[in-house]
Amino acid sequence: MDIIHLLSDSIANQIAAGEVVQRPASVVKELMENAIDAGATSVQLIVKEAGRNLIQVIDNGSGMSFTDARMSFERHATSKIRESEDLFSIRTMGFRGEALASIAAVAQVELRTRRSAEELGTLIRIEGSDLKVHEPVQCPAGTNLQIRNLFFNVPARRNFLKSNPVEMKHVLEEFQRIALAHPEVAFTLTHNDTEIFNLPEAKLSKRIVDIFGKTYREQLAGCEETTPFVSIRGYVGKPESARKSKGEQYFFVNKRFIKNAYLNHAVTAAFEATIPQGSYPFYVLFIEIDPSHIDINIHPTKTEIKFDDEKAVYAILRSAVRQAIGVYNLTPSIDFDSDINFGNLTALPPPVRTPSAPAGNTFQDFESRRAPAAPQEKSNRDNWQKLFEGLETMPAARAQDRQEDPVILGSRVNTIHAETPLQDENQEINAIQIHNRFIISQVKSGIMVIHQTGAYERIFYEKYLRELSGKGGVSQQLLFPKTVSLSPVDFSTGLEIIELVRALGFAVEEFGQNTFIINGVPADMVDEDEASAFKAIIEQFRMNENQQKMDRRENLARSLAKRLSHKFSKSLSRHEINGLINQLFETSMPSFTPDGRPVMTILSLSRLNELIFDAGGFK
Ligand code: ADP
Ligand code: MG
Repeated sequence: MDIIHLLSDSIANQIAAGEVVQRPASVVKELMENAIDAGATSVQLIVKEAGRNLIQVIDNGSGMSFTDARMSFERHATSKIRESEDLFSIRTMGFRGEALASIAAVAQVELRTRRSAEELGTLIRIEGSDLKVHEPVQCPAGTNLQIRNLFFNVPARRNFLKSNPVEMKHVLEEFQRIALAHPEVAFTLTHNDTEIFNLPEAKLSKRIVDIFGKTYREQLAGCEETTPFVSIRGYVGKPESARKSKGEQYFFVNKRFIKNAYLNHAVTAAFEATIPQGSYPFYVLFIEIDPSHIDINIHPTKTEIKFDDEKAVYAILRSAVRQAIGVYNLTPSIDFDSDINFGNLTALPPPVRTPSAPAGNTFQDFESRRAPAAPQEKSNRDNWQKLFEGLETMPAARAQDRQEDPVILGSRVNTIHAETPLQDENQEINAIQIHNRFIISQVKSGIMVIHQTGAYERIFYEKYLRELSGKGGVSQQLLFPKTVSLSPVDFSTGLEIIELVRALGFAVEEFGQNTFIINGVPADMVDEDEASAFKAIIEQFRMNENQQKMDRRENLARSLAKRLSHKFSKSLSRHEINGLINQLFETSMPSFTPDGRPVMTILSLSRLNELIFDAGGFK
């Protein structure tokens, strides 16, 4: 007696579905990727009960013909590859032709789709692989897929689903990954009739801010590196925005989200001494590589990936990130409304760095002083937060859920702060200046070395920022007013920002054609050539304007602070040293310049001993 027989299609599909469809989030991923593959510029995701009851994706992509609509639910039915060689040049998200067949095996599916060239669309209903309806229908161009009652016919799997907040967390993760990877596409996400995200088509930087919140605005450093083998592009968080908990870290290879510990190490290594140990940088990085250099034929739901030359990718990535955090300060800010301008980053000189402390000591003596509560903005983020309100109150039986990565909301700017220099009985600080560049002071655990101009930069920056946001700066009247003639472009830029420039302490008026007259300057600007300083600010501004349209105050405060700090590379009196240290420690972030370069380091006594005494072999 022969006992072997073929499984029915519906059972085969159900088995296959086990691989592809683990939870509502898997369906979300497959449907959204199909929409992207279909060339959609707008994708709406609608879910109910974390996707248990409904997952709907509406796109304005290519749509399908009457026959293709039916074919799309067959296993191994795909429009994306034909030949085995095609496997090595895959550029689409899907290609195995399994997703729709698998989903239709374990849910009730309704498809409405129409190609824009055709008058009538197609309606298909399938339940557990059974075709119920296949007929012409009136519908908009594009594709509208509704997936109801996931696992309705596989109770074991349905019971296996976690709580709604946990399932929704996974849905959000997939949604965010795809939305980040495709800023050129508009997305919305609606959960139980509440709109969680409404993301217009945007540049990547804007998309990041739209997703993660406005606090990210000031924190992004553009990253770009192109080699013949691989190109890297995206944003990393500036060092000062690194946080204590693992937060948003995204790699995309050819626009596909991946996890890769080795590449993550490359990024972390690039940040090296610029962030305290145990904190994690933010990054959204796109790696573009010829598909023949990666192993694409991996499991569809896995996020691992293999490169044929992982070491090269590592090195290029690390250098790209290093460059990003080293030079972003010189392009004072990143665009949000205008074009990303990575182009200016490369030609700039590396920043001045304080010598980094010996390994293992860098910022260990530092501690968090205050983490400013990120302003609660009425944004996408708020809505998102609501979704997780239930998470805290999960019963103990759900303990396993909690072991999953915690949901991280909002960005907590890490404020790093050093021990403060010790004072003597007269409230004087014990500090000396060396080489007109550094100030050395005694602290509890050893000695602190402060970079002089770095410290001034931090102090000036905060001062100007305050002045620009209302207080207004002190102006020093000039004995002899100066006139400045500018090019027509600079002149009109000057007019545009005249109020801000006045807020800094410039007493300035329009004075005939393309000319300003300066009657007073900011009090710190003594012994400067006022006219050329004014000119320089305008020029800097125009440069920034060309690159982006973001916060002008931030730009202005930074560039003026940097400019003025340079003149303090000079001998300071005891009184000035005291004043400098006191003012520095009154700032919100004494350890870093506004653009994230370290201002100070601590050499601990034990480290000094190790270097000097123990090293000699004396015991
Ligand atoms: P794959 O994406 O791996 O090809 P799927 O099962 O996800 O397999 O989809 C099967 C086919 O159905 C796709 O190759 C595509 O031709 C078509 N299809 C699926 N979703 C859409 C959509 N939203 N718009 C247009 N065509 C689609
Ligand atoms: Mg697909």
